[in-house]
Amino acid sequence: MDKKKLNFGSKEKKIEERLDARAVSRGVAIGKVVCLHGRKRQFYRININDSQIIHEVRRFRVAVKLAAGQLAKISLPKKKEFTETRADIFAAHLLILEDKSLHSKIETFIEQEKVNAEWAVKTVTEDYIAKQKIISDERLRERYIDLEDVADRLLTALGGSARSAAVFEKNSIIVAKELKPSTLIELIESQPQAIITENGGWTSHSFILAREMDLPAVTGVKRILRLVHNGDKVIVDGFAGQVILKPEKQTVENYKNAADDFHRLKSVAAEITKGKLKTLDGREIIIRANLDLPKGYVQAKRSGARGVGLYRSEFLFNQFKGFPSEQEQIKAYRKIAALVGAEGVRIRTFDLSIEHLADESEAREKNPALGLRAIRLGLSHPKEFRIQLRALLQASANDINVVLPMVSDVAEIIQTKMILQQEKSSLRKKKIKYGDLRLGAMIEVPSAVLTIDEIVEEVDFLCLGTNDLVQYLLAVDRDNESVAESFRTLHPAVLRALKIVLRAAEKKGISVIICGEMAGSPVYVPILLGLGATELSMNVNSIVRVSRVVAAIALEETRELVGKLELCRTPDEVENAASEFYRKNWSHLFPGEIFPPKKKYKI
Ligand code: PEP
Ligand code: MG
Repeated sequence: MDKKKLNFGSKEKKIEERLDARAVSRGVAIGKVVCLHGRKRQFYRININDSQIIHEVRRFRVAVKLAAGQLAKISLPKKKEFTETRADIFAAHLLILEDKSLHSKIETFIEQEKVNAEWAVKTVTEDYIAKQKIISDERLRERYIDLEDVADRLLTALGGSARSAAVFEKNSIIVAKELKPSTLIELIESQPQAIITENGGWTSHSFILAREMDLPAVTGVKRILRLVHNGDKVIVDGFAGQVILKPEKQTVENYKNAADDFHRLKSVAAEITKGKLKTLDGREIIIRANLDLPKGYVQAKRSGARGVGLYRSEFLFNQFKGFPSEQEQIKAYRKIAALVGAEGVRIRTFDLSIEHLADESEAREKNPALGLRAIRLGLSHPKEFRIQLRALLQASANDINVVLPMVSDVAEIIQTKMILQQEKSSLRKKKIKYGDLRLGAMIEVPSAVLTIDEIVEEVDFLCLGTNDLVQYLLAVDRDNESVAESFRTLHPAVLRALKIVLRAAEKKGISVIICGEMAGSPVYVPILLGLGATELSMNVNSIVRVSRVVAAIALEETRELVGKLELCRTPDEVENAASEFYRKNWSHLFPGEIFPPKKKYKI
């Protein structure tokens, strides 16, 4: 789709407002805003009918009990030093939580406004908080923080009780400060049209999912929740990176036509060739799919994918609303393995952080990206880790490959192999059948790159996770919009790290699947090939575009390109040298701007 086609010259009237955004999933959508609120668990206003009122009131009461139980538990002193202050603070919170007039206001709000419990809690507590904030006595005024804390706890507790039955209208556009992947999964059945957020990057899991689901998305829209209200009509332009508030009639018409064009073009693109994918000079390149939702494989296969390069098993947590049992996992792994067949699936063990396994009070981490997560979490929570490994062993009669996330040290692999041996022998004793799975490691932490020679001795294959590799090599939070410009995929350090890993694997004779978002970008793919990559795993929607580029370039050219890039000292120099090479050699493949200004995301 031609970007310019979407830059409509409709006359600006006073009411229409265009906001700059960062496009993170292509497409155009016109719809009505649904604002998401909440921190740990996100929620939104749901209009309910008379018969649902009783259900919502009950949910609210259950949540109060749950929250009170938590407060009672955490106010019990574990260490002598902070007994009194701690007990005082939480006793005060308990008093707020059990306040009868607060309960009555919230329940009345549910009944009269006919809304879900979350919305009633938010509206009523916000009213309390606003009143508290204008009290003249400073000490009393500061108590609004306690009110906020209690409201937050109540809203989180509501997430633990049964969900509200209703869903929102089909043409909704989700607006949030930041969108959690679990919330997005929860909202799928309402078939939202697009996403607008304030924060997040191209490699944030919610946007990876949005691209997989073909959902236009933009981010980086400051104070968006203050600019729109539930029900406002907006347009999301996921090509140019724009949000249009209060669009004029003519603008809506223009965008409707553009959206139709885009869908037509996409269905044509899906008719891409079958068979082996080769570069012009005959090097075979294998394209696999990254999947979070198994049903996506049908489309992936139609586009030419050969198996699944990365199945993010942690998405089962959304499906089962918590830790899935051994049987549930066996079933899920067999299902995806059967669907994919001979080309195989690489199932990553849970890449989660401690907040998914422990309750909130134990799980608060200042820096979860560097905390107890992924393989570290698995090894420190052997009960849950062993359940997953047992399930994978039992499902692996169907040819399963297992990948360990965030490996930082070969000892983690050796320890996992020992656990696998123990679980095999206990299954054998119980006469339960299991298969022989192949073990791989995600390379996404700098220490794994530097100890790659030791790692390749212990695994059957590698997956290169460029999203995290860039994050940890450059110390740039991949989910933080304010440092997005420093997330430089073409930093010389990244190129050197990729080369080190690809070389070590080649020497050992094992395969490397590049499975970060870099592999799904037609712009970055020639560089990956030049560095020695032969297997790329990507979002389903990138397969056709990447295949086209692979089939139209020669490996020899990509090596020449990388030779030039290796002489560069900074990310800017790399991008400039790459732009020059693309313009000179592949302008038919990359017309227009190749590495746009840092304000916008490319690809
Ligand atoms: C990566 O880090 O590149 C990767 C593929 O894993 P995830 O995006 O799930 O962290
Ligand atoms: Mg990762």
